[in-house]
Formats: sequence, C-alpha cells, structure tokens
Amino acid sequence: MAKTIMAVGAHTGDAQLTCGLLLAKHAMAGNHIITVDLTAGERGTPPSMSVSEFRKMNVSSAQEFASMLGGESIVLDTPDGELADTPAAELQLARLMREKKVDAVLYHWKNSMHKDHIQASKITENAIFFASLASFELDGLPPAPIRQMMYAENWEDAEGFVPYCYFDVTEAFPLWKEAVKKLYLTEHSKDFKYLRYYEALSVMRGALIKTDHATAFGIAEYAKRVKMDI
Ligand SMILES: [Zn+2]
Repeated sequence: MAKTIMAVGAHTGDAQLTCGLLLAKHAMAGNHIITVDLTAGERGTPPSMSVSEFRKMNVSSAQEFASMLGGESIVLDTPDGELADTPAAELQLARLMREKKVDAVLYHWKNSMHKDHIQASKITENAIFFASLASFELDGLPPAPIRQMMYAENWEDAEGFVPYCYFDVTEAFPLWKEAVKKLYLTEHSKDFKYLRYYEALSVMRGALIKTDHATAFGIAEYAKRVKMDI
C-alpha cells in the first residue's frame, strides 16, 4: 500500500531543500508526498518585491515543487518570523496529519540559529503526539498512522545534529534538482548558496554509504534501540 510522507518546514524552502531528496525517492516509488510550510518565508523579500508579492511567489513555487513530485503543497498563513508553539498551531498541524493519514513525518531538529525553526520543531513534535493519540478527540478524525519521525539535516539547525538514517537517493537526485530550482532561494539567494550546499551534502553523505547521492536524517535517542541476538 502506498505511504504518505509529510515534510514540515518553518519557511518555504526548508522542507524542499532538506527533505526533498527523500520525498523525490518516495514519489518515484509511488508514495504520496506532502510539504507543509508553516510560513511562506516572505520576510526574506528581495529589494525588488513587496512582502506580499514575495509571499505569493513562494507559495506558487512550493506548489510547483510538489507538483513535479506528483504530491501536494500546503503553506500555512502564519507570518514569517512569528511562529510560536501554541496549542492552536499544534492542533492545526495535527488535524492535517490526521486528514492526510500520514505514515511518516520529516521535520526540524530542535536546535537552530533561527527562532522559527526551533518553534517549528516543537510544533511538529507536539502535533505528531496529538495526531497519533487515539484517545484524543480531534474533529472526529481517526488517528494518523505515524510510524516514523525523523529530523532533517538543515545547515541552520546544525548544533548537536547527528545523522543516523541514510538513504540512497542517487536515482531521485535529478528530479529533486529540477524541482528545487523552482524555489527563489535556490537560484537567487546571495546570502547562502543553497543548491551548491545541499548538492554537495548529498555527495558527501553518498560517499559515506558508497553511493553517488544520499540524504541523512536524525532520530530520537529512544528510537535507536536495536534488538540484538548473537
Ligand atoms: Zn527556514
């Protein structure tokens, strides 16, 4: 049965750049992928555009990215820079996880140089709790079948991040690269060479598992127990 993979980012670009390779791999395997941008990242406005124009452009580029993977894009209305871990934010995301019957969630690691990323990590973690808890009533929706949650490797969330699960994404790499070029950040950001960084990261992670391109994720300490029998 096809799975549904949801990647949650604080700003448009976060999920697509850090989780996109794994999303592309799943899309090619016939699974359903969803990107959720908790904000549109509209305050990174270039001088030539207004904040509202930039927001519109980011929303449509997130849509184009998801369409190229045959999936869906959801961009929430919270203003960029104003994310806060509130019960309303947690339940809004939990509701989406239930409605979409999500099997796996990819999201921000808890430490970050960006305040929105820290909030996004908390919001997502708590949303997973409310989405999964069968005894918690949420608009009559059945609990989401979430079995896997993993932290994405984001250059802004590097403090204490330890990659643990590696995925060979060599075949998905060309699709991801084409899709991610739809994002403003990828082609125009002067602050940080996003595409160059994430492409090189996939080569470096790939070398470690003896393939051309890989993507790596962290998981919670409690999920690292391995049952051994020697
Ligand atoms: Zn961000």
